[in-house]
Amino acid sequence: MNREAAASSVEKLSHYIGGRRVPGASGRFGDVYDPAVGAVTKQVPLASADETASAIATAAEAFPEWSAQPPARRGRVMFAFRDLLMRNMDELAKLVSSEHGKTLEDAKGSITRGLEVVEYACGISELLKGAYSESVAGGVDSWSTRQPLGVCAGITPFNFPAMVPMWMFPLALVCGNTFVLKPSERDPSCPLRMAELLREAGLPDGVMNVVNGDKEAVDALLTDARVQAVSFVGSTAIGEYIYRTGTAHGKRVQALCGAKNHMVVMPDADIDQAADAVLGAAYGSAGERCMAVSVGVAVGDAPADALVEKLLPKLDALKVGAHTDEAAEMGPVINPAAKERIEGYIEKGVAEGAKLLRDGRGEQVKGFESGCFVGATVFDHVKTGMSIYTDEIFGPVLCVVRAGDYEEAINMVSSHEYGNGAAIFTRDGDAARDFAHRVQAGMVGVNVPIPVPLAFHSFGGWKRSLFGDHAIHGREGVHFYTKLKTVTTRWPSGIRSGAVFNFKAGGEH
Ligand code: NAD
Repeated sequence: MNREAAASSVEKLSHYIGGRRVPGASGRFGDVYDPAVGAVTKQVPLASADETASAIATAAEAFPEWSAQPPARRGRVMFAFRDLLMRNMDELAKLVSSEHGKTLEDAKGSITRGLEVVEYACGISELLKGAYSESVAGGVDSWSTRQPLGVCAGITPFNFPAMVPMWMFPLALVCGNTFVLKPSERDPSCPLRMAELLREAGLPDGVMNVVNGDKEAVDALLTDARVQAVSFVGSTAIGEYIYRTGTAHGKRVQALCGAKNHMVVMPDADIDQAADAVLGAAYGSAGERCMAVSVGVAVGDAPADALVEKLLPKLDALKVGAHTDEAAEMGPVINPAAKERIEGYIEKGVAEGAKLLRDGRGEQVKGFESGCFVGATVFDHVKTGMSIYTDEIFGPVLCVVRAGDYEEAINMVSSHEYGNGAAIFTRDGDAARDFAHRVQAGMVGVNVPIPVPLAFHSFGGWKRSLFGDHAIHGREGVHFYTKLKTVTTRWPSGIRSGAVFNFKAGGEH
């Protein structure tokens, strides 16, 4: 069968607009792979600007009624949705794993992290509670409230097709907004299924919509005047474009972007703890995590040698396999293009002079010979000028850099263009405290390699890892999806001030 014939025989996915699945009308499709097999298993429609506009129109139409619901009633939908997520966990995880490639346990873990935002969103009545000040002046009271924005859009990456959308839509919806999600075209089935579960949970039709697509759909969302806010998670190059285009069109935009997360290993660190930490943090989900540790900075040669010595046998024992293999600890990368790109970086690293201690190229998994597998890779003696250090590789490749002292290490972390996560491994409270205080990164771990904040805190990096003023979920999420209104009231009474032409000091209205 030629490629075109093979593609026409695979399952065709749809959009989800106005409470139902809607087939694509543009005639354009994207390929969805099963990365373990290395073959196209589904095709996703790529929406035209008109199809995207119709989803926006549906969301705009649903806004007045949904936003008028009491927050507690909106929260109740999330309670029911949470229950449905739990009950359908196996099916959702399978959808994630079969299109992304990560192990089933990892897929379930990521859904659970998203579910925690749903749980946080259940308490929206408390979160939206405003402030009230009585008698700010004679007979004058003042109160503030947060109101929904209108239609909000979410544009999400391939690496967390369940969790990252759930960083966005649960809070956007309970705040009273309606939503258009444009998930990654590489693994769109789980987001589509979650939209159906929201309907089952009682969400009115039109409040949540899913438009599949590429740049054409994204541009339609960024330029349509009815879209009030855009949440983006993805690479820095695209995120910067989203931020600039969205804000130029008057929208509120938060764009969470790429990363190069450093883990500093001090001479007094517990090396066994550090080696286990880096194993999970660098190679979990095949390194396709924005919080993956991709650089180990050892302070001195002794901790570097010890770390590498402990790590290498663990990598030999690491079980690489398909998500259908319950014993697998690391799956394939997302598609053949990603495999090629990552292997290209390994080649570059060698050419740049780094010492390749373990080469993941040519990794073979029995029965899945065409799968997109890249084995665990380690470079030692990496220098900060090398592209394997400067660029986000987004694969199972760890760079070990050797720093002369702590100052050199912290300056290295802080000077990198990305500032998502950073960790320090040490027994020294003073060094840990100094690192947490001074390092230029948004999320910091002390003996914790992947310091992802829980739902009731907010997630977000610094520097070129985040464009915009708000991190995601937690209080920041509530603020992003609402606008503040402050009302000052005076009722006719015996207190009269007459006409006032000048500003007065506080308390004198
Ligand atoms: P990506 O930037 O390629 O895609 C993200 C989204 O943007 C997708 O929905 C995609 O369809 C859309 N898009 C792609 N090209 C576009 C274009 N030219 N114009 C408009 N829209 C476009 O990212 P990805 O490869 O799916 O995901 C991996 C990246 O996401 C990594 O850089 C990773 O660090 C980042 N990420 C960041 C975080 C975070 O919180 N900071 C979390 C997860 C992933």
